[in-house]
Amino acid sequence: MGEASNKSSLFPTYARYPITLVKGEGSRLWDDTGKCYLDLMSGLAVTSLGHSPAQVKKKLVAQLDDLWHVSNLFHIPNQEKLAKLLTDVSCADAVFFCNSGAEANEAAIKLARRYHQKVLGTGRYEIITFRQSFHGRTLATLTATGQEKVQEGFQPLPQGFVYAPFNDASALSGYITDKTCAIMLEMVQAEGGVRIAEPEFVQEVARLCKEHNLLLIVDEIQTGMGRTGKWFAHEHYGIEPDIFTLAKALGSGFPIGAMLGKEKLKEAFGAGSHGSTFGGTPIATAAGIATVETLLEGKLSERAAEMGQYAMNRLREELNGHPLVKEVRGLGLLIGIECHEPVADILAKIHEQGVLVVSAGPNVIRLLPSLLVTKEELDEGIAVISKVMAGYSLAVKE
Ligand SMILES: *Cc1c(COP(=O)(O)O)cnc(C)c1O
Repeated sequence: MGEASNKSSLFPTYARYPITLVKGEGSRLWDDTGKCYLDLMSGLAVTSLGHSPAQVKKKLVAQLDDLWHVSNLFHIPNQEKLAKLLTDVSCADAVFFCNSGAEANEAAIKLARRYHQKVLGTGRYEIITFRQSFHGRTLATLTATGQEKVQEGFQPLPQGFVYAPFNDASALSGYITDKTCAIMLEMVQAEGGVRIAEPEFVQEVARLCKEHNLLLIVDEIQTGMGRTGKWFAHEHYGIEPDIFTLAKALGSGFPIGAMLGKEKLKEAFGAGSHGSTFGGTPIATAAGIATVETLLEGKLSERAAEMGQYAMNRLREELNGHPLVKEVRGLGLLIGIECHEPVADILAKIHEQGVLVVSAGPNVIRLLPSLLVTKEELDEGIAVISKVMAGYSLAVKE
């Protein structure tokens, strides 16, 4: 392995697991030796309909036959259709398509600044984000990200971002200045350790946005598309963001991102203000349409709520009293097992036993199963996790 990776022609930007996956179907994956895995991480919340979902595959294949790309200089019916579907299931009125989460957040940041500068004429540009947040890896979005390790070595960073403590409702107003144009946050800080926003905190964010005329931006890139048991996680809080962003599960594995916003923001993003060559190609938007239709038909956000509750109950039963486990928490099928120690070794052993899960920060084991996962599959995965963890705690005690 070491030799192979030294010879790799890739930049070593990823610390990869020692597994090479070559085939997938539903919640199952197979590696290059034929070993079968139960996938409880869905390519980081991307393959939410499982691997090779039939309905998406059918639509993609049909679109591959018809047309791949024409440029946004032309009308693209699939874009109109997907935008209509997304605005029908959300509080948004307009959609901009791009190719990734970072790009969706870039669009949100640009739109917030431009709305304040060109439409309102306030000249404001500062965006409040939160510590331990994750918003992407481009220069602006890594600056929006409230984690030093993501920013290290990339100075100078773009101006205009300030970091407030997450879930601290009383501290927040102290971060608003006459330059602030928006507050941007995740309803669940997923990369940051599956930290769920508290209702009072979110209410205060929304209240301050109204009071100071700030745009409320919610990053739904990981939490959107039914993952948390609602179409979008902000619905759990009864708020309506001015802008929210999607990517990950939107194309079931085909790359696509989207920035969605309220009617009043259309004026700020006129012709020539923003764009993307590949944004919303006929193929990417075909994947998006089939994904949304599958979620609608199967009522999969409701299923995620039910399965998430089942998984969390089972995990709590199995891990109750375990000396390493601090807390099992989650929203729908975005679930974290917070431990008192780093989980890298435990994760490797769970993988060896044929179950794929991922960490969220050093101490949290994160589960992101397909929204179509069955109770039997969850039972199977949870049995492996608790068996591995039981062995681990004995090793530590010795
Ligand atoms: C994954 C993620 C991003 C970045 O998405 P990319 O497609 O990797 O650019 C941004 N925000 C959140 C909350 C994410 O989970």
